[in-house]
Amino acid sequence: MAKVLIAGGGVIGLCCAYYAQKEGHDVTLIERGDIQSGTSFGNAGYVSPSHFVPLASPGIIAKGLQWMLSSSSPFYIKPRLNLELIKWGLTFWKQANKQTLEHNVPYLNAILQLSRSLQTDLKNELGNHFRMEEIGCFMLYKNPGTEKHEIELAKEAAALNIETKILSAQEVQAMEPDVEVKVRGGVLYPIDCHLHPGDFMHTLRDALLQMGAKLQLNTNIIGFEKKGNRVTSIITDKGKFEGDEIVLATGSWLPMVTDQLGIQIIMQAGKGYSMTFNNMQRNLRYPAILVDDRVAMTPMGKDLRMGGTMEISGLNSPTLVKRAESIFRAAKNYYPDLQVQFPGPDKIWHGYRPLSPDGLPYIGRHSKYANLTIAGGHAMLGLSLAAGTGKLVEEIISHKTPSVDIAGFNVERFD
Ligand SMILES: Cc1cc2nc3c(=O)[nH]c(=O)nc-3n(C[C@H](O)[C@H](O)[C@H](O)COP(=O)(O)OP(=O)(O)OC[C@H]3O[C@@H](n4cnc5c(N)ncnc54)[C@H](O)[C@@H]3O)c2cc1C
Repeated sequence: MAKVLIAGGGVIGLCCAYYAQKEGHDVTLIERGDIQSGTSFGNAGYVSPSHFVPLASPGIIAKGLQWMLSSSSPFYIKPRLNLELIKWGLTFWKQANKQTLEHNVPYLNAILQLSRSLQTDLKNELGNHFRMEEIGCFMLYKNPGTEKHEIELAKEAAALNIETKILSAQEVQAMEPDVEVKVRGGVLYPIDCHLHPGDFMHTLRDALLQMGAKLQLNTNIIGFEKKGNRVTSIITDKGKFEGDEIVLATGSWLPMVTDQLGIQIIMQAGKGYSMTFNNMQRNLRYPAILVDDRVAMTPMGKDLRMGGTMEISGLNSPTLVKRAESIFRAAKNYYPDLQVQFPGPDKIWHGYRPLSPDGLPYIGRHSKYANLTIAGGHAMLGLSLAAGTGKLVEEIISHKTPSVDIAGFNVERFD
């Protein structure tokens, strides 16, 4: 069994650590924070096979340009002369076509399905300490054009054996008896599930400690030692850690980390916001994506989270309260009698989606090193793909045949 070093303690790193330790490897996870906050905590909590269409798809460029003209739209790119951004933009543009989409959907669907099924296993293995509910997710719309698009998507889902239910406004309302829902209709994806991502992170952390994995927290990775074609150790501000297998799962900071190994990964951080309202007297029963506004609504027990926006503005940009206001406004527009007040700026959470230019993750070995595995770029699907990614990474380092074909996730596909 191998001595495995995992860089990064987001949901991807924790799931890689979980499956590797479970298989009998000796895992040390190195994280510069304390596994209490970050992108894997404040997200919308969906584990959603319904999202089988990758971000780079036909029509997205035109839609993006249209959105960019409005300060309250769900998408924004901060204009700047930055080589990485230009490289990412050009690669994204090249990928956003029908042919690439048709190539990528089966890969994404396969890992989504794998991950979804492992998520239920995790609930059974670890206990449901993370409010997981397996009741599906609504795609709700007000606009006739959106309705048409969503019904077409539901047909594409059927071709992948994903069940959907197309619902009228009255049917949606009947399923949400506690709050008024103002929509034209919706599509329910019963296979989707949702959970409290922060509670899930803590459950994984506790399980890892119980299983004997070592969590090296508050420790910043600053370099690597190499010998021949192997990475032999990770150098941190708390000393050096030696390992047989190295896994890099540092989310939106992956390019900075791989840079130190002479590996270039094309990625941008997609900033998003969420707001959580605790102890709701009358809450939603179903999670829902408000498709016209790209807003996610998630009931988490008695709490309600709303989130959205995709801002490509670097890793240290200020919180744009206006965009959080748009999320809130959309929520009230769909659910007019929700008992919520717009929170103060200090209550607006933000996180960074690690965006690959085609919307597929990077999972696999890099040809430069025999013992290095990369697990990143999960974009808006990090939680949805975490269990599957963890399992695949364990299979890679254990030299097994992966559960699904990982060719589409090749970490060198844009080289
Ligand atoms: C508003 C919003 C809503 C979302 N909703 C959903 C959803 O409903 N479903 C879904 O599937 N996904 C969702 N996502 C996306 C999901 O949150 C991310 O894809 C996922 O959290 C990425 O996980 P990660 O482990 O790759 O990265 P992270 O969670 O960012 O973890 C990376 C870790 O690496 C650490 N690190 C970085 N550099 C170093 C270093 N040098 N040394 C040590 N440690 C380092 C960081 O501290 C960090 O903890 C959402 C995202 C946002 C912003």
